[in-house]
Amino acid sequence: MKTAATCALCALAACLPALALSPSDYAPDTPEPGSVEAIAAATTEPRFLSPWVAYVPESRDVPSPADFLGHIAGAPGELSRTAQVYGYFRALDAASPRVHLETLGKSEEGREILLAVIADETGIAELARLREATALLADPRRCDAACAERTLPTARPLYYLNGGLHSTETGSPEMLMELAYRLAVSERPEIRAIRERLIILINPVSEPDGRDRTVDWYYRFVKGKTDYENLPETSPPYWGKYVFHDNNRDTHQRGLALTRAIQDMFLRWHPQVMHDLHESVPFLLVWTGTDPQNIHMDPIVIAERMQMSFQEVRAMSSLGMPGVWTWGFGDAWAHLYVDSVALHHNSIARGYETFGIGSADTMDVRLDLRGEEYLGRPVTRRDWYRPWPPPRQFRWSLRNNTNYMQTGVLSILQYSSLHAPEMLRDFYNKGKRAVERGAAEPPYAFAIPERQEDRGRLAALINLLRDHGIEVSRARSAFRVEEKPGTTAGGAGAADSDAGKERPERELPAGTFLVRLDQPYRGYAIDLLEPQDYPADEADQEPYDDVSWSLPVHFGVEAVRLDDPGVRAVPLEPVTAPVKYTGKVEGEGPVFVLRDSGQEALLAARHRLARMRVEAAEQPFTLGGADYPAGSWLLPAQKGLREALESAAAELGLDFDSARELPAVRRHPLDLPRVAVFAAWDDTQAAGWVRMLFDEARIPYTYISDDDVKRGGLDSRFDVILYPHTNLSLARLVQGIDPRHGPIPYTQTKEFPTHGLPLASPDITGGLTHRGVANLNEFVQRGGVLITLGGASAIPIEGGFVRYLRRAKTEDLSTPGAEIRARFSRPDHPIAYGYPRETSVMREDLPLYETREADLGRVVLQWGLEPPRYYDKKVKGDGVWAEGAREVIDAEEALKEERRRDSKRPAAGRGAGGVAADGSGASGAADESGASGETGGDDESLVVSGGAKGVEQLQGKPAILDIPAGRGRVVAFNFDPIHRLMTRSDFRLVWNAILNWNDLPAPPPNPPGAAAPARSPAR
Ligand SMILES: [Zn+2]
Repeated sequence: MKTAATCALCALAACLPALALSPSDYAPDTPEPGSVEAIAAATTEPRFLSPWVAYVPESRDVPSPADFLGHIAGAPGELSRTAQVYGYFRALDAASPRVHLETLGKSEEGREILLAVIADETGIAELARLREATALLADPRRCDAACAERTLPTARPLYYLNGGLHSTETGSPEMLMELAYRLAVSERPEIRAIRERLIILINPVSEPDGRDRTVDWYYRFVKGKTDYENLPETSPPYWGKYVFHDNNRDTHQRGLALTRAIQDMFLRWHPQVMHDLHESVPFLLVWTGTDPQNIHMDPIVIAERMQMSFQEVRAMSSLGMPGVWTWGFGDAWAHLYVDSVALHHNSIARGYETFGIGSADTMDVRLDLRGEEYLGRPVTRRDWYRPWPPPRQFRWSLRNNTNYMQTGVLSILQYSSLHAPEMLRDFYNKGKRAVERGAAEPPYAFAIPERQEDRGRLAALINLLRDHGIEVSRARSAFRVEEKPGTTAGGAGAADSDAGKERPERELPAGTFLVRLDQPYRGYAIDLLEPQDYPADEADQEPYDDVSWSLPVHFGVEAVRLDDPGVRAVPLEPVTAPVKYTGKVEGEGPVFVLRDSGQEALLAARHRLARMRVEAAEQPFTLGGADYPAGSWLLPAQKGLREALESAAAELGLDFDSARELPAVRRHPLDLPRVAVFAAWDDTQAAGWVRMLFDEARIPYTYISDDDVKRGGLDSRFDVILYPHTNLSLARLVQGIDPRHGPIPYTQTKEFPTHGLPLASPDITGGLTHRGVANLNEFVQRGGVLITLGGASAIPIEGGFVRYLRRAKTEDLSTPGAEIRARFSRPDHPIAYGYPRETSVMREDLPLYETREADLGRVVLQWGLEPPRYYDKKVKGDGVWAEGAREVIDAEEALKEERRRDSKRPAAGRGAGGVAADGSGASGAADESGASGETGGDDESLVVSGGAKGVEQLQGKPAILDIPAGRGRVVAFNFDPIHRLMTRSDFRLVWNAILNWNDLPAPPPNPPGAAAPARSPAR
């Protein structure tokens, strides 16, 4: 379709060099008038263009992007908001019988997430049948070999393309408009084949909130600036309502609307390929990943990914486009990215990093090779996986990005159209092999007992498994199974070494959840249910992201791996609806108690009971024959209590027991503090997850930025400031966003309505400043409680809020998102409420600190199970380490002795959590099993799940510090207990600090344990 707008573009293009094309390059298409010139004009060098995308085909009936937008896709200085992109797809749908639209979901801010389906007319007319054919092939239990032979020739592979996930990677929504149009209208034989043999699914803007915020940002601050080295900030401080770049780390958790939309799309359509379009590396990198490969992927898929990636490298090199490569970027261990849903369900996940500059403007680029090194080699180096590297210096445009991405996608769609039968057969075979392996080899199932310390997290885990398409059942009757000790980490080697040993039996009650593994998504079930065993020493490079994600470990829920084929005979009832537990309020009162077993819901419950007096027992007690640990709640008689408890019990699944009177036990009231959550304008990511958690649980808080902190007077507004994890150093926090481009207001205006949310500022540059840091310190000095998570702990420690802490010297220490054992040095401290003395938490690579020996009492939780060791300066000689205070050694020796005597200690040391193949994984279940598993001896690895290097260096170092400072406190975590939504069994540590904020005991005098803890000054 020709319009004045397209023709206006011809004039611009008049005298620029173009790819030499002849009519045969288009035939039988005719280029839309002006398109060849406009594309050539927007491309900076002919070699950054391919004949396939050097023109836009003309159509009489169907509007092109230029018809709709007034310019070609990828035109300089132009970015489209979500409404424009969707508007174009609606116009395409209205005009073309080869396009069909669906809504996948709604974003957190209420924007639609749209899916476009493209195929030939027959394909669109038969979508329901084609979808059913693929669904049949997805489950070999519904479709035997004969059915497969009947179905395969009638099915078509579905190829899904995901755009706009990372908002500042702006090219893909533009490119996808042109691609969709080309696929719908071009009559080139290769495009016809794609249309006739495949179904193309396109999600053009998977993060619509972030897209609109970023496009507003571009027009407000970036457009027109072309000094690549000195661009103003190219990203708004927020993308989605809560989450920034981490929106591509949510696959296992499904915390975000966009993740749920995409994953639910997968289970509805079963695409054979999911392809996520990102931008960073020059010029186009296809994700595959170095070793280690995730061990639960079928071998077919590893080969498929490699084979397909070389299609783009070969095809684009052949078309004369330099800089296309694969493999050497990231590893293939963790599949926690958006596209990974495909790998987890027998399909192929792929991704591009196309070069992008965070702007729609054209500019000269000279690569900073220190920032462009992969596998220790500069990106400009020629390698077997990068046969034609990009140059170091070039001029780049948004249209170059469009050309690369679109040419790559067309080449792989062409490949897929030529390999459709084998793609479908491999898809079927992967599911078939999964079912067969689950029936023929251990593990045969995982059992998840219903008796858990936190049924809320149990329900969340079961519901997550089901949302991932993993089938969960419940045992209709009690059953006994043999257990195999020592297979905790799922390694076959570990299991073999136990051959011939007597196998204990374990009885599991009726109602136990069972995940049988003779199901098509067996690999994902095991991947989610076993601890990870990451081979840190054998990896080709540092891991790209977390190396542990095991749901039982990170949710603190016991799951038992069953290698006994007898479990296959247990009669089952499938779970067909979400699991939800409602709690009970037993008895008539007048007083009530709640047993603290580590329930995540206690912070929400305290808020639901905001008008009630709630007290926490500081010691264990017995009531009505039942044992209650320290931290358990005591609720004195008060008006309206029972009704309030019933409501909280029903909503939050908590059980309350009643008594005639409360036990005589030391206690303190749980006063609700005024809580602020702080994030600097320069790094809002981790605070986003915290805000999301608080909002969903309806926990009140005030969200504050640098502006609030700089104003000071924090102690008059807040009792507790929670500073979630940040990657900012103290210096960077002080400096913030560079103000050299003048003030950057983040305010809502008529023109830029997406800005100013969730917080506004007249100027987000300039950071916290030294004054802001001083104000934070003043807040503490005046009696406030500052809780810092992960990297944020550097602020009080390195900013001088507290004394006598320093960075520990470490060598080759790496805990890249691994679950590490830890022990409460102060098990009576309120932060320990709900936890066993020995536990484990997830640790990222963060600086490690150490205290003076005299300050051991500040350590609430320590890394490892060993006592802290101190270098004794008085003793000469290399490597002479002196133990801490004599009393500490004695206490530790006693503990070790206790450990040696107790042969039933959990191997996973995670209290209620973790996977246990030996039946001893849960403290609660240990006595029932009678199993004699591995002892939790101190020579055991500190890694519960994942992998690490040099981890012994952590032993005895502080993991959580509670440090009095002035009249207030600094509670500093050396890990991020709210890491995305993954570390759910660590959340309570933070909740405990908040709930007991004005009853944190003074550190015991050295040595610990010599005196009863004293209270902090009354407030
Ligand atoms: Zn990205």
